Amino acid sequence: MNTHQEPVQTESDPALRTRALESLLIEKGLLTADLIDNVVHKYEKDVGPLNGARVVARAWIDADYKRRLLEDGTAAIAELDFGGTHGARIVVLENTSTVHHVVVCTLCSCYPWPVLGLPPGWYKSYAYRSRVVREPRAVLREFDLHLPDSVEIRVWDSNSDLRYMVLPERPAGTEDYTEEELIPLVTRDSMIGVAKIETPSA
Ligand code: FE
Repeated sequence: MNTHQEPVQTESDPALRTRALESLLIEKGLLTADLIDNVVHKYEKDVGPLNGARVVARAWIDADYKRRLLEDGTAAIAELDFGGTHGARIVVLENTSTVHHVVVCTLCSCYPWPVLGLPPGWYKSYAYRSRVVREPRAVLREFDLHLPDSVEIRVWDSNSDLRYMVLPERPAGTEDYTEEELIPLVTRDSMIGVAKIETPSA
């Protein structure tokens, strides 16, 4: 539940209507709860992050696009036809071998929907929201991301007007990959900053 203002409309009203509609359709036997869960799952795991993966892959192969993406994320993402109210302004942060960015919304669950889809449950959890700011290194270790002490970690707090997306490092061993081959390597978690992308095994 959002506790602060959204720019265009509040989320509570559509959320309530959606729940009412969902109940009605299930009651009438037109939908099952499983089907709805499947759709949500698909949006969480495939549709949303896939847009972000396309943005990342493009940035990896096109230096000019990457420059535009880091200068003005919203505009560069719109070049690929992704946008909308939940991405009012998107800032893209580049992870490197020396600086690692990780994104949170300490207040609630602000997230760059047009590129990443729905936020995962843990992103909305109080534990993640409160702890990643105080002890990012420990939290990242719990995601099985072990960063050397020499890597600086920067935590970015999303809000309703400004949402962050991470441009992960291109993994070694992918120098010959095409854009289309790179897309499936890009994970949702790497674009939140809680994971790196591993070199694909041959
Ligand atoms: Fe939020």
